[in-house]
Amino acid sequence: MKDQGMKSIQKNNFSETFHLFFQHDRVSKQVISDNLGHSLPTITSNLKKLLDRNLIVKDGEFTTKKTGRPAQAYKLNNNAFISLGMAIFGDYILLVALNTRGELFAECKSNIVFKNIDNYYYKISQVVKSFIIQENIDENCITGLGIGIQGLVSQNQKNIIYSQILPMQGVTTDVLQRYLSFPVTFLHDADAVALAEERISTHREDAIYLSIGPHLGTAMMVDGKIYNGSRGRSGTMEHITIAMNDKRPCYCGRYNCIETYIAINALLSDGEETLSQFFNLVYQGDEPTLQRWHQYLDNVSEAIMNLHMFVDSPIVLAGELSMYLRPYDIDYLENRISKISVFPKENPYLSIGKAHNHPVAVGAALPFVKKFIENI
Ligand SMILES: [Zn+2]
Repeated sequence: MKDQGMKSIQKNNFSETFHLFFQHDRVSKQVISDNLGHSLPTITSNLKKLLDRNLIVKDGEFTTKKTGRPAQAYKLNNNAFISLGMAIFGDYILLVALNTRGELFAECKSNIVFKNIDNYYYKISQVVKSFIIQENIDENCITGLGIGIQGLVSQNQKNIIYSQILPMQGVTTDVLQRYLSFPVTFLHDADAVALAEERISTHREDAIYLSIGPHLGTAMMVDGKIYNGSRGRSGTMEHITIAMNDKRPCYCGRYNCIETYIAINALLSDGEETLSQFFNLVYQGDEPTLQRWHQYLDNVSEAIMNLHMFVDSPIVLAGELSMYLRPYDIDYLENRISKISVFPKENPYLSIGKAHNHPVAVGAALPFVKKFIENI
């Protein structure tokens, strides 16, 4: 028992030392001593272990204020482990690589048209392998590949339990795992966006994330974790229906789901119009386009008011649309919500998402980064 207790303290000290490298760009023995209070032999032993495992590297010297003498500096090895993320769309896939700190350092887009057949998954696996070679990534350092899916996934992240936009229901990670040597997981794309947003957010609080792309994805973060419930369906608020004066069919088979009012597909006119063309007209003050935009924001207000009645948490407007939103639009939404809300005027609870760089693929990779760090 005594030995086990000692081992646990040693492990804890080792882990604390490693985690300290995420808070400081450069670390010396003095920095470890000041922050963690470890003895010199413990510090020396842990630094040696971290160097042997290639988790840190030497980084020149710096002068400590206390002794005035130059001291060996160490820093995190940003390439100690690499996590891969992917987002699957109808006519292309996006692939990203994150370093030890969870920062994106490589990406690629490959035009492969989705088809739920073995050959499609084989082609994807070959793109992943080429990407690894092209980016000089050591395959032994890869923690895993997370794939953002426009659908719901099982709790063990191995099965797709609902997927209508791309027909992937019933697909398991085996379709790719058979070709790859590292773990493969699935993640609901809206959950991935929420993780990508949470990573760069300065707040750490419960929140609802509306990921507004061609389709709407929604996710709920509770106590720093995505809340999916025991069967993986919680937080999918896009299919809550709202009572409006029209009747809009949703891909789920029902009518007037929030999806049909908030998704970008509901904003743009059918055919060729792009989001940037639409917003160019909005910014120029084109009257008919402004009317459409305000009608859209009124619908968004209706949806947000309903969600807020259900969960009183901040709401983040994320996804592709967030790149175009201005503080003016948030003011417009807040004014509109205060008019239709049953509650007295509240403190603002809306914000614009900031994760604009491939949030689905990045968010799908982040659980691997987190898990690896936590396990050391
Ligand atoms: Zn629906």
